[in-house]
Amino acid sequence: MFVDKAKISIRAGKGGNGAVAFHREKYVASGGPDGGDGGDGGNIVLVPDPSMSTLMDFRYKRKYTAQNGSDGSGKRCSGKRGEDLIIKVPVGTVVRDAQSGAIMADMSTGESFIAAKGGKGGWGNSHFATPTRQAPRFAKAGLPGIEREIILELKLLADVGLVGFPNVGKSTLLSVVSKARPKIANYHFTTLSPNLGVVYVSEGSSFVMADIPGIIEGASQGAGLGHDFLRHIDRCRLIVHVVDVSGIEGRDPVEDFDTINRELEEYSPELASRPMIVAANKCDVADDEQVSRLAQYAEKLGIPFYRISAATHEGVRELTLAIASKLSQLPPIVTYEPDFVETADNLDNSEPDIVEEDGCWYISGGWIDRLVENINFSDYESRMYFDRVLRDRGIFSRLEELGVQEGDTVDVCGAQFEYRH
Ligand code: GDP
Ligand code: MG
Repeated sequence: MFVDKAKISIRAGKGGNGAVAFHREKYVASGGPDGGDGGDGGNIVLVPDPSMSTLMDFRYKRKYTAQNGSDGSGKRCSGKRGEDLIIKVPVGTVVRDAQSGAIMADMSTGESFIAAKGGKGGWGNSHFATPTRQAPRFAKAGLPGIEREIILELKLLADVGLVGFPNVGKSTLLSVVSKARPKIANYHFTTLSPNLGVVYVSEGSSFVMADIPGIIEGASQGAGLGHDFLRHIDRCRLIVHVVDVSGIEGRDPVEDFDTINRELEEYSPELASRPMIVAANKCDVADDEQVSRLAQYAEKLGIPFYRISAATHEGVRELTLAIASKLSQLPPIVTYEPDFVETADNLDNSEPDIVEEDGCWYISGGWIDRLVENINFSDYESRMYFDRVLRDRGIFSRLEELGVQEGDTVDVCGAQFEYRH
């Protein structure tokens, strides 16, 4: 079975907690704090795999979790980093955030992609020791990893897409011009999954052709199989519209041609406006009048027309050369630009922890970690901004409630200040 769309849940690993520990040695009364940091949580990493051609694996397994980071321990031992979870996907898979629908990545460049980042490990208490506070009895907790649902959509990387009614000879044509061996049979819907073939034109010149299952009338409204498969020609630079001109099936070639064009138009006007070449197939058994009628029709629309027989190979070479020549004038295959941004929704927005220790107030965790990362403390404006955010978001009132005194030290993720009303 061919599967070209899947929704999965992914969860990156949580960061390990920092440790609270003190150096102990025989005959040494009390050593300094030596709690190590928690390890970072593992990421969820998508890796393109050229040997995969469907998203079928994701039908059976829908939840993916990366390993958590281990907690820190004494003797300044850092916790182990959680292992990344690698998920292999077919080349050409487009990754979307399920919630917003935004594109996160196009797996067509061969590069891997971090779809969910692991949480940072928390600092152990050894980080919090200062000359005046030599025994901090707390550490930071690890942060949760990113958790989200993503949609995987396979969009084949082909230069040329063959479209046309079922049974017109698309698969036969592909098997004649390339080494691909799609199923060929004299009944409708023989092609249930797209086939890709590399067509060698001459030394150093080749292109990729995709045979997608026949589109039928109503496909753009979701009838039949066609609709799902139209996404595979989204990236094609050129459409080769195969029409059966033999009349064997009792249909009219011009009508067939129009029907398919209408389907393309309804699915995507942009797709319908892509450069097109008409291949009038089964010329070996067609009557000339039918063929010329379609030829004239195509000419009127300004679409290049080729008469071929995939069965006898007549005209196939000419068609191949025309495709190659047209492709050389067209821009490269489309890749999808990511438009996804991490929003506050998928970040840790919890309220920071406040811990008091020997007159020092340690504030960390939640949104404040992110704020601190973006503050330049040597810059006055930046410090003022920081002050304002802390006030507006109620950190100062929380401190007051907890009994902060004028002149106490406030430590925000390692940056220390003296408290003033
Ligand atoms: P598809 O559904 O468009 O992929 O069509 P197929 O390639 O499976 O072909 C459908 C039928 O048409 C098969 O029986 C083929 O052998 C036959 N066929 C394909 N091309 C030609 C041709 O040029 N001439 C004749 N006479 N039959 C052909
Ligand atoms: Mg076929």
